[in-house]
Order: sequence, then structure tokens, then C-alpha cells
Amino acid sequence: MKMKKKIIFLDGDGTLWYPRTTKRSQKPHWVYHDPETKDNYLEHLELTPHTKEALEYLSGKGIYLVVLSANPYAEDVAIKEIKERLEHFGLASLFYTYRSSEGSDPNGKSSIILEVLNTLGLNKKDALMVGDSYFYDYLAAKNIGVDAFFIENNVSKMPSQTPHDLKSIKEVHELVDILI
Ligand SMILES: [Mg+2]
Repeated sequence: MKMKKKIIFLDGDGTLWYPRTTKRSQKPHWVYHDPETKDNYLEHLELTPHTKEALEYLSGKGIYLVVLSANPYAEDVAIKEIKERLEHFGLASLFYTYRSSEGSDPNGKSSIILEVLNTLGLNKKDALMVGDSYFYDYLAAKNIGVDAFFIENNVSKMPSQTPHDLKSIKEVHELVDILI
């Protein structure tokens, strides 16, 4: 069944891009800390498959796209880093905005989703969250009544029992067939 959405919140690491060498087989954050990669990490990241084309398509349909990334740094530093990644991948013009939530707060993304919806005068049912972290992305949205897709992977922390109604996709580009 097709979903109708006006705004999509997308996580960054592990969702839009990941380390070229480990993709989703390891938590992606090592690339920012490893002495071999930290000084030029952009060179060690790649976009997930067909993500750019999918985002161009969705943006062309008038859907607002928002990067919503959890980050250990203060929001102004984090925003600069997200912007740098978006520009590196040639995605910056496709996004309405990019925001960062505190990395230590599993519900950090919830309040930002509500804030952005409020700013745009949109409803929760207009929104979709997509991310590779069960608790920080998927549940942060579900907890406030916003639809979400979990990007399938084996490194996200999961609840002891996977919910029977878990909505998941393998890649961002699947949204093209699910939406509109
Ligand atoms: Mg992630």
C-alpha cells in the first residue's frame, strides 16, 4: 500500500552514507575516530546505494527532506559537519534543513521532529522517519506517533523481542516505491 508523506526525516550515518569499507557491518562512527581515517573521513564515506537518485526524485515530488542526525557535539558544530557531508555528496540543495540531536538522548529526535512539523504547519501523519538505529530513529518517531522505517542491519541495539509490526526496509531508495 502506498504511503502519502509530506516530509521525510532521514538519519545520516548508516542511513544516507556509511564507511566504504564496513558499510552496515559495523557501527559507522569508527570512521570519525580511527587515526587512519579521521582527518579525511569524507574520503572514506560513501552514499548508500541509489540514495541520491531517490532523494532527487522525492524532493522533485515536493516532499520536504530533513537530515536528522544524533551527534555527541554541540548542535552548531554538528550542523556544520552535516552540511559538509551533504555538500561533499552534492545533496545540500535537496534538503529543507539539517538538524542534530544529542547523542546521549534516545528521544532527542522526537522533539526536533515535532519542532520542524510545527514550523511548517504539518501534522504527524504527514511525516516519516527513516534510520538505522532502532531506539534513536525508529522508536523516537513511533513514540510520538510518527511513522518510521528501520533500515535493516545487525549492529543496531534491538529490544529483546523484535516487535511483530516493525516496519523495515533495506535501503533508502525503496521509499520511491512506497511513497506517493
Ligand atoms: Mg545512524
